[in-house]
Parts: sequence; structure tokens; C-alpha cells
Amino acid sequence: MTKPSLLILPGDGIGPEVMTEVRKIIAWFGENRGLEFNVSEDLVGGCAYDAHGTPLHDDTMAKAQEVDAVLLGAVGGPQYDDLDFGLKPERGLLRLRKEMDLFANLRPAQCFDSLADFSSLKTEVVSGLDIMIVRESTSGVYFGEPRGIFEEGNERVGINTQRYTESEIDRVARSAFELARRRNNKVCSMEKANVMESGVLWREIVQKVHDSDYPDVELSHMYADAGAMQLCRWPKQFDVIVTDNLFGDILSDTAAMLTGSLGMLPSATLGPVMPNGRPKAMYEPVHGSAPDIAGQGKANPIACILSFAMALRYSFDQGAEADRLEQAIETVLGDGARTPDLMGPEGGTPFTTAQMGDAILNALGSSI
Ligand code: NAD
Repeated sequence: MTKPSLLILPGDGIGPEVMTEVRKIIAWFGENRGLEFNVSEDLVGGCAYDAHGTPLHDDTMAKAQEVDAVLLGAVGGPQYDDLDFGLKPERGLLRLRKEMDLFANLRPAQCFDSLADFSSLKTEVVSGLDIMIVRESTSGVYFGEPRGIFEEGNERVGINTQRYTESEIDRVARSAFELARRRNNKVCSMEKANVMESGVLWREIVQKVHDSDYPDVELSHMYADAGAMQLCRWPKQFDVIVTDNLFGDILSDTAAMLTGSLGMLPSATLGPVMPNGRPKAMYEPVHGSAPDIAGQGKANPIACILSFAMALRYSFDQGAEADRLEQAIETVLGDGARTPDLMGPEGGTPFTTAQMGDAILNALGSSI
């Protein structure tokens, strides 16, 4: 059988540091679980600009289109701040998302019990939390036309347009239902059908996709403002939340921060299903290149390692191995391992990036 392919793009700042730890984990799964990947590596962001004068070389783009999944570290840095807009490191990321047509952004909010105290909410509200927000990410008000700032009479008017086609709603709804089937089989769709026509259409299409192809999944609908309240009141009522680009932007940040540090948050963006049955996919931590701590061994590698766990689960059908990796992380956190971003006021000696990676490897070793 051909090995599944993985393109690693470490990027800039702490990206290469956290990716070093992920490489160790990937090697462990190859050596101990017979899970071997055909791994290739390339440049994205500022380092690609330094090498090629562009934040994403055409050859790298072509490779990303061919592989089963892309794993990205982070891009950016102050040395690139004055570049033209089209050459900035972030443009490399945007090009990947756009040309791979990655329309479903998956942001889990998962609370490891040993970090429950880190949340701004009460421990019992977040402990054991495991929800997934699916945000439509290629359409909606961030892309709709007309947009701009126009003269109107003797003043200016700022305009953005919320626009969704039936097919855009249909495909992101399917992603959410498919995900729910691999989780706890529940989807809550959020919009503002009470005041927005795009919300009325959203609700209608999500319901239609459900009734025709996913009747086994429990579906509910909620207005997005009520959803925000419910997320803070009792987030464990949700399994998968599917919502549009704007509400998803806000709700996923809210949900993610229920669980603690930026260094703990993975993400995935999925696109159309390829002929081999896998969706086009890119996995990356939510955090950026963290220039303030780059090169100091202070970065928390867990967000990037959890992004690889998502790849195991959603691209490679290895849910049990993803559970194993997440359990190893829970174990080391339970044992008190902390990078500086996870240190509480009580202090202690923080783990370096490499020590955290090694501790997770040890815990994986004990899991078999
Ligand atoms: P950032 O996420 O890089 O950092 C915000 C804060 O969180 C910093 O104090 C940083 O030290 C800390 N932090 C982030 N990740 C951490 C980790 N893994 N472990 C420990 N601490 C961590 O956001 P920023 O400072 O606003 O942006 C820095 C650069 O990253 C900018 O150039 C920005 O454009 C870029 N950026 C890239 C991405 C991406 O690649 N997806 C996302 C956001 C920002």
C-alpha cells in the first residue's frame, strides 16, 4: 500500500521549533505503530520570501495540491512588516487556503482536565469540554460584493455584503455532519435567521442536507447571539457547531479561549473531497510565529502536535491513534509538565519546547 503523503511547512519564528517536536512524534508513529508517511518539506512565509522573493513558490503550491495533507507551523515576523501587501508572509497562507479551496475551518475547543484552572470559567463548566466549531471560511461577509467605503451625499458609507450561495452552505453543512458522525453525532447550526435573509437560507439548506443525507445526526438551530451566551453558560451541551465566516470567527475565538493558552490550540481547514476519498486539508496551530519568544526554547509545541493529531483523525482515519496522542498530552500535563505559557502564579521550573516534546514521546512509549 502506498504511504499517505504529508507536506510539512514549518514557516517562520517558532514554527520550525514546534515542528521539530512534531517530526519526533511522526517518527514515533512510524517506528511503533506502523503508521508511515511519505513526508516532504518546503518553505512558506518569510523564509520563502528570503529564498525565492515570494511567500509561496509555485512549486510549493503544486506540492500542496498533490499531498494528502499539509502541516504548517506559523508565518510572519517584524522584519517583513514593510514588504508590499502581496509579498507579506501571510499571503503565502492565504494562497494555500484559496487555491486548495479550503472552505471548512475546524477549531476544536478541548479542555485538558489538568488545565481546567486556566480557564476564566468555573472548572466544572470547562473540565472535560470537547467541542468543534466548523466555520465556513471562503465566503460570507468577508468576501461578498459590493464592499468598500463610498461617498453618499455629504458623508461616507462603509459597505460589506453577507452573501451565501446554496452550494456554499450545502458543502460546509456536509463537512459538519460528517465530523459529527465521527464524534458524538450532534450538530448545532448558528445564524441570525431572525434578522438576516442569508440566515434564513442557511437554516433552510442545513435542514435540507440533514433530512436528505444525515437524518441519523441530531440537528438543532440557534441564533448566533444566543449561541454565544450558551457557549459561555454551558459549553458542554454542544458537540459540533456549524456557522458562517463572521459568526464563526467570533464564536471559535470565544470557545477556544474557554480552554486556556494560545499554545494549546490546533486547527484544520478542509476542502473538497479528492478522488481518494480524503478531503484536501491543511492542519496548523492557531498561534502565530511569536517573534517575542522565537529561538529561546520557550514555545509550547502542543498546539502543533494536536494539529497533527487532527490530521491523524480527519485525513488518515486513525482516530484511535489520535486519541492515543491526545491522551499522552493529557498524561504529561497531569504530571505537571508546563512550558512558560502554562505556568501559573505558583511558579516552578518550566519545560523547554524540546523537553515538552520528549515528555510526550515518553508518555506515548508507555501507552503501548
Ligand atoms: P502570536 O500568536 O505569534 O503571539 C501572541 C502571543 O502568544 C505572544 O506573546 C507569543 O509569545 C504567545 N504565543 C504564541 N504561540 C505560542 C506558543 N506556541 N507557546 C507559547 N507562547 C505562544 O501572535 P502575534 O504576536 O500577533 O503575531 C506574531 C506574528 O505572527 C505576526 O507576524 C503575525 O502576522 C503572525 N501570525 C501568523 C499566524 C499564522 O501563521 N497562522 C497567525 C497569527 C499571527
